[in-house]
Amino acid sequence: MMKQVLVDMDGVLADVYSQFSRLELGETGTVIDIESLYGKLESEAFPNYEKHVRSTNFFRTAPVIPDSVGGLKYLNEKYNVLIVSSATEFPDSLKEKVEWLNEHFPFIKWQQIILCGTKNSIKGDIMIDDHPKNLDYFEGKKILFSQPHNMYMVKDDCTRVNTWQDIINIL
Ligand SMILES: [Mg+2]
Repeated sequence: MMKQVLVDMDGVLADVYSQFSRLELGETGTVIDIESLYGKLESEAFPNYEKHVRSTNFFRTAPVIPDSVGGLKYLNEKYNVLIVSSATEFPDSLKEKVEWLNEHFPFIKWQQIILCGTKNSIKGDIMIDDHPKNLDYFEGKKILFSQPHNMYMVKDDCTRVNTWQDIINIL
């Protein structure tokens, strides 16, 4: 039986930091240096976080993380892939996230998409996520995808990856 891999969306497939930066630039004209945001959650890093994350099309128009299309295609042929995203905090995001996946990752079937609240009860063999709070509850292999907010975290029970190429190299 193929191993089950849980793949997060925001910060692993969807480049939300770029999306927030783009919207912040449009809102205030401020260019945000991503490296200056290391160690800060999105809600701490972006002054207009609440407004933008709840705005129409925020999730629908998010840029794709580099190499994630090819990387997910690779995983999808080798593993039982499930896309697991905490989406219900932002109710409007559910439709947008499904449409976004259909556009960028058309090889992912609807049966593979789990939009949920917390991820604590979701089971699998391997989990790829950028938030340690999600990985902490997981019982399988934990892969921490680098994002500005987790750059300074040391997590001995996680394997850190910086790119999708890193994921392909280890899975
Ligand atoms: Mg995430």
